[in-house]
Amino acid sequence: MTGIDVTQQASIAYQAMLKVIETSEPTVAEAIRQELTDQRTSLKLIASENYASLPTLLAMGTWFSDKYAEGTVGHRFYAGCQNLDTVEAAAARHAEELFGADHAYVQPHSGIDANLVGYWTILSHRVETPGLAELGAKSVNDLSEQDWEELRHRLGEQRLMGMSLDAGGHLTHGFRPNISGKLFHQRSYGTDPATGLVDYDAVRAQAREFKPLVLVAGYSAYPRRVNFATMREIADEVGATLMVDMAHFAGLVAGKVFTGDEDPVANAPVVTTTTHKSLRGPRGGMVLVDDEFAADVDRGCPMVLGGPLGNMMSAKAVALAEAKTPAFAQYAQDIVANAKALAEGLLRRGATLVTGGTDNHIVLVDAATSFGLTGRQAESALLEAGIVTNRNAIPRDPNGAWYTSGIRLGTPALTSRGFSPEDMDRVAGLICEALEGTRPAANSKGLPGKAKYAMADGLAARVHAEADELLGNNPLYPGLEL
Ligand code: PLP
Repeated sequence: MTGIDVTQQASIAYQAMLKVIETSEPTVAEAIRQELTDQRTSLKLIASENYASLPTLLAMGTWFSDKYAEGTVGHRFYAGCQNLDTVEAAAARHAEELFGADHAYVQPHSGIDANLVGYWTILSHRVETPGLAELGAKSVNDLSEQDWEELRHRLGEQRLMGMSLDAGGHLTHGFRPNISGKLFHQRSYGTDPATGLVDYDAVRAQAREFKPLVLVAGYSAYPRRVNFATMREIADEVGATLMVDMAHFAGLVAGKVFTGDEDPVANAPVVTTTTHKSLRGPRGGMVLVDDEFAADVDRGCPMVLGGPLGNMMSAKAVALAEAKTPAFAQYAQDIVANAKALAEGLLRRGATLVTGGTDNHIVLVDAATSFGLTGRQAESALLEAGIVTNRNAIPRDPNGAWYTSGIRLGTPALTSRGFSPEDMDRVAGLICEALEGTRPAANSKGLPGKAKYAMADGLAARVHAEADELLGNNPLYPGLEL
């Protein structure tokens, strides 16, 4: 580095920033201060959250927010985008180099937006109208109104197959109430009931029968690795385009934990992601594509996205530059080592885990089998004890998607704070202690409820105190003074 004390400079910057914000709206300044305190004092095990670096955070708060820049680098619908071109080009270049992608589109505002861009990219590239060639049109974006009418008809006939929500897929992978499940005819693949693992033969058989245009791989709550080479083989066999949503594990791909058959970018022509989960960047999304899809993905804005957020693209460039360092590769290894330690700690204390363990950053606890609690009860009890998690459906969940039977845990955030495998074992102990001392409580009608719970006297405070000790040993943004 340059000899600059980053934390000291960031303290000065944030102190000044808060003073300035206070002159317009003191409530917001106070909430910003309180949010840091809350994040510093809770054990964050939400698998989709992280703590971005101070340079990444600072890059978000600039006048790039004030610039409109629809279009792409060098081809904007607005004048005066030369500096925004610089940051977008830097973010795209870092992403292409880091992931070995032909082309990176860094404008999506979030993961859901990235998936919409991904679907639009595949549809606009692959769905043809009879008039396309005769019209000399290069893509659907050049069609006449009459051709659009025909295209609307054809778009309505396309098929998508993704992992079901209760097996760990995301809403945008074809869940019926989501637009992905309405826009497409959809089918979901699940996991093997005995092992909880993806059964590739079953996916292949289903794909052969259903013949989707888009085969989606990737997950929000699956604690194992996926063989994307096999998924690609299946897609190729049935004429589908494989789209991998690596939102959750992009950091493990960047850090070269997932390589070879497990590398989504080497195996799928379209890869979508968020930038704020294991990748440790700002809140946002990206789409990485093979050259063949580059022209289509670049039409994401304004076809399905609003104007790009220049401030967020600057922060993406900063975070992606950081993700290229050896320190980040070590961080990615540590995330997995910590998840394994957490899983082993839970198993040793008698908990039941979906798939029996983990080999990525996620641990999915079957709270119903382990502790006789719904996911909702377990989530609330843990929160009272200072442990922030989220409830999650488990495969074939009898309690449905609202109350659920599972608790999803993830290690990217605590690993960013410096937690070690030994610390994670203590975290496993705290989780078991808190949940073993919690019982379901009757609801207002006196019936067994799915939300209410009762913790043993003093238990929450005891666990909280131990959690505080662990947090104190691994401070968030050490030295940052507000
Ligand atoms: N894709 C996956 C696999 C996710 O887990 C999530 C969010 O949790 C998303 C997409 C959506 O990301 P965002 O909330 O940024 O829209």
